[in-house]
Formats: sequence, structure tokens, C-alpha cells
Amino acid sequence: MAGRGIFAEIMDGDVFKYYVHGQWIKSSSGKACPIMNPTTRKTQFKVQACTQKEVNKVMDIAKTAQKSWAKTPLWKRAELLHKAAAILKQHSAPIAECLVKEIAKPAKDSVTEVIRSGDLVSYCAEEGVRILGEGKFLVSDSFPGNERTKYCLTSKIPLGVVLAIPPFNYPVNLAVSKIAPALIAGNSIVLKPPTQGAVAVLHMVHCFHLAGFPEGLINCVTGKGSEIGDFLTMHPGVNCISFTGGDTGIAISKKAGMIPLQMELGGKDACIVLEDADLDLAAANIVKGGFSYSGQRCTAVKVALVMESIANTLVKKINDRVAKLTVGPPENDSDITPVISESSANYIEGLVMDAKEKGATFCQEYRREGNLIWPLLLDNVRPDMRIAWEEPFGPVLPVIRINSVEEGINHCNASNFGLQGCVFTRDINKAMLVSDAMETGTVQINSAPARGPDHFPFQGLKDSGIGSQGITNSINLMTKVKTTVINLPMPSYTMG
Ligand code: NAP
Repeated sequence: MAGRGIFAEIMDGDVFKYYVHGQWIKSSSGKACPIMNPTTRKTQFKVQACTQKEVNKVMDIAKTAQKSWAKTPLWKRAELLHKAAAILKQHSAPIAECLVKEIAKPAKDSVTEVIRSGDLVSYCAEEGVRILGEGKFLVSDSFPGNERTKYCLTSKIPLGVVLAIPPFNYPVNLAVSKIAPALIAGNSIVLKPPTQGAVAVLHMVHCFHLAGFPEGLINCVTGKGSEIGDFLTMHPGVNCISFTGGDTGIAISKKAGMIPLQMELGGKDACIVLEDADLDLAAANIVKGGFSYSGQRCTAVKVALVMESIANTLVKKINDRVAKLTVGPPENDSDITPVISESSANYIEGLVMDAKEKGATFCQEYRREGNLIWPLLLDNVRPDMRIAWEEPFGPVLPVIRINSVEEGINHCNASNFGLQGCVFTRDINKAMLVSDAMETGTVQINSAPARGPDHFPFQGLKDSGIGSQGITNSINLMTKVKTTVINLPMPSYTMG
């Protein structure tokens, strides 16, 4: 049960506390933010609504803690991360239970998210000691006009305080994918979890607390992003922002100061299916990619661009699989569970109704009960429909029939997004040409888009992001290069 056993100290009555300076405390605001259970649509948990004054204090504490953490040997930082990873994995059950209640993630997937997060933290510790243990040595006479009179040593130093803001759909995994690289690189953390998902994140933070990190190094403030978000992201004490979410990220990047930004934003991931594709493989991946976690994934297949000559056969194969998807509560491990909120369900419904008015073919009847939307494949979608471009973040998948590969590539590239894409074909040469032409951060050949394994680079082009993630890239992004130049006297002798 949430907030029980070793997690008892993170609660005060029925409200979860926030975490600062190694302690769980109540906000002086006296206010709590409710967390709605997407399935019951009733308040499941409450978290503290932190004040601006509390954020100021947290920033000061994080700044002080970072100074000594930066001097802590790398191997010691790694040791603590390994410890936190083990505690996190050991307590995957209660954390997963929070995910089920807060974000309606199917039970098995919730456990997988926590275990994967533990693995990410361990990998990060190992990768960190390797890549941060290395520097560069340059000599001056490689540049014209210079003698061999200067030696340049480079190393990587931390940035300072990293502000980490993950989204609701992978609150634990996308929190640790920011926390672990920041910590191994010698930074401190101010974490602002998504409101839906905050309680799972607070449990995860407690695992780091139990691992024994220095006080003040990891801090977690709670509250609605719409209320404290701007104050946090524009705070002068922040030295780097690592954000994952939707359009909010574009607004943040316009307001943030002169600090490194890591932005993982939305996507309209296109799946191009060519005439020579293995259609069973394509159908299986389109259904898994489009409907896992009810389509609430940045890397979900969000539009299938299918060659007209094979479209009837492929659509039938997709529909056969959609018919087998189970629909219901996350506790039952249903494939399709309620979407995160009523406003999200309304938004999805708006896209569906727009497609209906404009003549899309409904392969299933549209059905919704509360936040639960039954999986829906829309065939014969045209570019004048909103669903051809917008991210539904729900279990609705549009199929656009195309007459040439170029038409598919042009549709993909006309999007403001550029996260991932995929192509199905048996011809590797064609696949490589399509991959080269698609303006997305990653292209998967013969598989649905996906994040991970977590050490693979992961990045979005255009409105899909800034910077590249993945463990190694995140560690590098959260450091700066520092150089020390040793100036030698001019040689007073000649060789030879
Ligand atoms: P969101 O609404 O943008 O929220 C993301 C985070 O930002 C939440 O923690 C939210 O807190 C916070 N926030 C809200 N307003 C803020 C503000 N003014 N300043 C600072 N923070 C603020 O996104 P979401 O609905 O949680 O997640 C879905 C989106 O994330 C989709 O677009 C999806 O594609 C994208 N996503 C991208 C990736 C990727 O790697 N590219 C991965 C996963 C998801 P509150 O919850 O308190 O509002």
C-alpha cells in the first residue's frame, strides 16, 4: 500500500510530504493538490502545494549540497547510485501500485517501469565512472604558428543545480533518467514531478533517501505545474533544465535563461509501410506501437502511412489484432485502460469527431465510458483532418493511404514534430533511403518506434526536442568541459 511500511514517513495524515534537505516535510501553504484516479475519477492521493518561498529555500540548499558533492569521488557517487537502484527494485511493488492508481498504467507495465528505472540508475553509475574518468590531452604545435609550448588538459565538470521535470506517462523512469546522470556527473537535483504520478515519484525519491545520499543533494517539490512551473524554470538558481512533456516545453525554452536545456517533447511518429513489407510483422508492431498504454507514449505510432496496394490487407490484419485487445481497469492488466484525465479524453474525442465529419472510415464503433476509450482505427484519413497532424495521446490510430514512398516521407516531414518514425520493408536499401529522408531523431527499421534500451541515444528534431538523451548523452549534457593549460618555457635548444 502507498505510504506504508518503509514509506510511512513520507505521509502526513492523508497528504504526502515534499522532500528537502534529506527530510520529508509539510508545506507552509496548508494547501494540497488532489491526484485523481483516472479509472474511478475520484481523488486517490494528495500532495503538498509548495510555495515560492519554499522553492527559494530548496534552490539554496541544492546549491550548497552540490559544492561538496562535486568533490565526492566518482566511485563513491557510483556506489550510492547502485545502492539506490537496488532499493528501488526491491520496492517495485508499492511504487508500481501507485502508478496503477495515479496514471492507470496496466499493473505489469507498472512493475516493468520501476525495474527498468533501477537498471537505468545502475547503468548510469557504470557509464559515469568510465566516461567522466576520461579527459583529453592536446599539444599546441598541432595548430599553425604554435610551438610545442602548451599542454591542454580537459575534463568534465558538473553544471550545478539540475531542475528535472518529468511527464505523467513514465513518471518514475523519466525522473531517474534525469536524476541519475545529473548525480553521477556531480550535480544536485530539484525535482518537480507531474501531479499525476507524483506519489510514485515520491516513493522513488524515498529509495534514494534510504540509500544515504548527502542531505540537500536530491530535493523534490510538489504542486501544479501551472502554479509553480514558471517560478521553477525561471529561477536564477537553476543551472540546467531537463524537461519531458508536451508544448509546455516549448514555452519553457523561450523563457529559460542562458542555461543548457534538455527537452524531450511531443511526437507524431509516422509508420511508413511499403509494398514489400512483412504485413504480419507490420500489423503486430502497429498495434503494439499504437495502443500500448492506450497510446499515451511519446513514441507511440501516431499515424500509419500505408501504400494503397497493400492497405486493404494490412488494415484487416491490424483490425484482427485490435479486436483481441482487452479493455478495462489497469488492475486487471487490461491492454486499454482509462486515459489520464477527462480533459484528455475530451481532446481525443474532438479529434475523432473532426475525422468523422470529414469522412474518415471508422473500423470500429467509437465508444467511451468516462476516461475509458475503446481502441479505434480510422482508415482513409486525409491531410485536412486534425488527427493527421495532432498527437491524440490516446487509443486512436489514423491510417493514411499513400501512392508513393515520397508521399509518406513528405507527410512525415511536413509535421512540426520530428521524434521517431519507422519503416516496414524487406529491402534494406530502401529502408536506409527512407530513414535518411525522414526528418526525425530516430528511425526504426521493421519495428515500432520506442525509447530504449535506455543507453541508446534518443532525441527529437524540430518541436520534438532540444539535445540528445540516452544515458551517455545525458551525462555529457549535464557537464561542461573545463580546460587547464600548462604553459612551458620556449625550448632553448634545437633537436637533431
Ligand atoms: P505536460 O502537460 O507538458 O507536463 C509535463 C510536466 O510539466 C509535468 O510535470 C507538469 O506538471 C509540468 N508543467 C506543467 N506546466 C508547467 C510550467 N508552466 N512550467 C514547468 N512545468 C510545467 O505533459 P504531459 O501531459 O505530462 O505528458 C505528455 C506529453 O509528454 C506528450 O506530448 C508526450 O509526447 C510527451 N512526452 C515526450 C517524451 C519524449 O521523450 N520526447 C516522453 C514522454 C512524454 P503538472 O503535472 O503539475 O501539470
